[in-house]
Amino acid sequence: MLNVRYVYAEHDVSQGKFRQYIAGMLDHETWRPAALTADRSFAQMAGLPDSESIGPLNTRYRRGSGVTGRGTGDVFFRPGALVFITNVREPRRPEDRFNYEIMESSPVFGRVRLREGILVGIVSRGDVDIDEALQGFLQAFENQAEARVDEKLEFDWTPIDLDSPRLEKLLEKLNTDTAAARFSTPDLNDEALRGASVLSGKPNRELLRELSEAGFGRVADILARRGDKKEEVQSALAELAQAGLTHAEVLLVCKATSAPLARFSEAEEVKSEPIASVRCGKCPRTYSQELVSEGYSVSPLGRSLAQGSHWMTVWVTSRLVDLGIPLTSIVWNLEDSGEEVDIIIEFMGKLWIFELKDREFGPGDAHPFNYRRVRYGADEAFVITTDKVSADARRVFGDLASGRAGTTTPIIIEGLENVEKEIRKRLEAAYLIRALEALVMPSLMVGYKLDAVAAEWLPSNSIPSSVARRVSEMYYYY
Ligand SMILES: [Zn+2]
Repeated sequence: MLNVRYVYAEHDVSQGKFRQYIAGMLDHETWRPAALTADRSFAQMAGLPDSESIGPLNTRYRRGSGVTGRGTGDVFFRPGALVFITNVREPRRPEDRFNYEIMESSPVFGRVRLREGILVGIVSRGDVDIDEALQGFLQAFENQAEARVDEKLEFDWTPIDLDSPRLEKLLEKLNTDTAAARFSTPDLNDEALRGASVLSGKPNRELLRELSEAGFGRVADILARRGDKKEEVQSALAELAQAGLTHAEVLLVCKATSAPLARFSEAEEVKSEPIASVRCGKCPRTYSQELVSEGYSVSPLGRSLAQGSHWMTVWVTSRLVDLGIPLTSIVWNLEDSGEEVDIIIEFMGKLWIFELKDREFGPGDAHPFNYRRVRYGADEAFVITTDKVSADARRVFGDLASGRAGTTTPIIIEGLENVEKEIRKRLEAAYLIRALEALVMPSLMVGYKLDAVAAEWLPSNSIPSSVARRVSEMYYYY
């Protein structure tokens, strides 16, 4: 995983003076400006007195309006971390224009309007303490710059939060629409978590469904119906009861007619007065003389988790939390209103929607889901099914994707065993894209393709081709 942070301090200084700040870093022992060091060495080999006279490299920024040149700024490397610094100014002078253009039209800063100040960004490997590294750099920069220009400098570094609150805005919009479903904060209590975990096992789920339909099931009947799977059923019965999804009860049955007479929480109740003396309506026996058999009914917890496959919402949410999504960035749709979205999450300024099905996902599910996806402006859509997504449903998604520009097919996850792995893959790609987007600006500034640095930090030492393509097509001319 790669992390990204930015800070900004208002500071009105010319690019020339700012270059002196950076030159001050040349003799720092850990944070040394890589581009300036390279330029110095280049000039030296060329027999030039300094690197200024050799002029800037010509790079071109795809999104900028034909701006060429090199920005003012530099990059600094530490093991597992890359810091970049630049001086952002209103583009009145040509030397300010490049910095301004690449910032203004870069993926990360489009929304944030920076005018006269110093911008510092850091991209780091997951195991590096990013805040500590950033603070270390800022401290070094302030000291070295002050020493270089021989004056007291004040920098008030403010973190820049680049993730706009998408989820909040969406919920506000939906709240004004009476036809829309209501979303609420997830309730992940221990009981629900344990229940959902038990119900993630298919035999357990099927047994609960059976009990739920019948209202009550005798152990003897349940075992008889699944002759060859006795052990599986017995362990399912035990797990359901342990998780509080079912209540053990006893059923009193008439010995003469086998008709069910009444249900009790415990066998002892039948043996004690006044129930013991109650007479059977079908035969001369009293209740105490009739047949008692053990069984189970569904508890309120079991009912609520089975209702609309709510257990699946709980279970998937628990995976999301395990993968690092804060609970505050997740909402549930608990209404059984036919709204084809069960979970919405906000992740790094992106909206992801999830539709969960404890059955086959068919073509009839695909259209409404696609409609919600467009309506909610979701960046990514997931279909998770315990079963399969039918060929017809896949065809519907395929047709929709080919017919409408910008619509991609949803991410399909079949089988609960693949949920964590697949979502993790998407989260990692999202972190990576954000890091690569953050590297666009410093890459253009120094004229080196810094993606390669980030790739070195990945376990595979390479950026997945789909991600690399997406970023290079959007931001660079190669
Ligand atoms: Zn009887």
